[in-house]
Amino acid sequence: MSGFPVALTKCDGYSLLNQAFEELKEKAQLKEFEKKVSGKKVLVKPNFLGPFRPELAVTTYPELVRIVVRWLKSANAEVLVGDNAGIGGYGYNERSAKKTGILEASEGAFQNIAKEVVEKQVDSRFFKKLIVSKAVLSADYIVNLPKLKTHSLAFFTLGIKNMFGILAGASKSQVHNSAQRIEEFGEALVDIYQIRPPDLTILDGIIGMDGNGPSFGRVRPIGYLVASENALAVDLLVAKMAGAEPKLIPHLKFAMERGLGPKKSEEIEVIGEFKPIPGFRFPTTLARNRFASFFINRFIYKPIINSKLVLNPNKCNSCKNCYNACPSGAMNWKNDYPEIDYKICIRCMCCFELCEQGAWEIAGFLKRMVSRGGLRREEK
Ligand code: SF4
Ligand code: SF4
Repeated sequence: MSGFPVALTKCDGYSLLNQAFEELKEKAQLKEFEKKVSGKKVLVKPNFLGPFRPELAVTTYPELVRIVVRWLKSANAEVLVGDNAGIGGYGYNERSAKKTGILEASEGAFQNIAKEVVEKQVDSRFFKKLIVSKAVLSADYIVNLPKLKTHSLAFFTLGIKNMFGILAGASKSQVHNSAQRIEEFGEALVDIYQIRPPDLTILDGIIGMDGNGPSFGRVRPIGYLVASENALAVDLLVAKMAGAEPKLIPHLKFAMERGLGPKKSEEIEVIGEFKPIPGFRFPTTLARNRFASFFINRFIYKPIINSKLVLNPNKCNSCKNCYNACPSGAMNWKNDYPEIDYKICIRCMCCFELCEQGAWEIAGFLKRMVSRGGLRREEK
């Protein structure tokens, strides 16, 4: 084989997923991958951006997660499924996994990967350290399961962008805050992708989203499952199918320039048949990006980073649950009460959600966000 192999198979509905996945395994020669993962720890990384029902096409379809989990288990892998949903933190992960159907589809393999995090040095001009889920760094293999969607800031949410979810707590807000322009955000996405590139990417492109994604776009049939060991190769092929020029999509441009996969679409070896996606709509918000990023940064990301939790000592019974649960080591114990070091706190909200006495009160923007169940209301 020459170039970067990308296998794709036609699949016109999730009821046909089992058969399509079997075909994909043949085309992508996943037997080889099965041998590698035997006895190894494998993190399956779907996209569960928020608590959205599966048919809204915001998140990876749960049946694909189920099939992949079963496949990896049958290959004797030690499987766990996890993602960091949106910018909402620990409790938001649980709610999102449940609502999207991914919790149930994981068949016992789901893990809230915001629970254990590490501070990781990052080679980037935007940030020196980010908070990354420990499960990402300790996995022997990562199977990336992105959804085929547009994204108003990144153009596409495919294989590379899906790895943004390795960041926990307020780290995503920190990235948005320090890389605000579209070009900068694209470069930052590649910096994050390089922390731990996935070993296999299987794209859910059966029902996808175009227009103003990642959550308010048009739900539309696309009809493909796509797989490759190189996420950039998957993304370039999908960009081509959608009629997009990869060099105009900043994170693809930076990834190509850094040699993280094919340097142009011609270096992809396509295994399978495909047709251009008819009438694919790109985000209209891109034209307003400078204003949008200023607005979002000022009114969402910065307020999240600056929000604080305040302890009500009259309610606290000094049980230490919050102190023991804090994933970032931001909690100190002083005079029988917990105290937060805000220089370290990642606003994951574990302490708030675990306190049975309701002793933590939220001040500022996070109060509104949490009381609304996240940045977007939970779908009914
Ligand atoms: S979990 Fe609640 S009650 Fe227990 S120490 Fe923390 S704030 Fe106090
Ligand atoms: S102090 Fe609370 S919000 Fe901050 S990192 Fe620890 S558990 Fe999360």
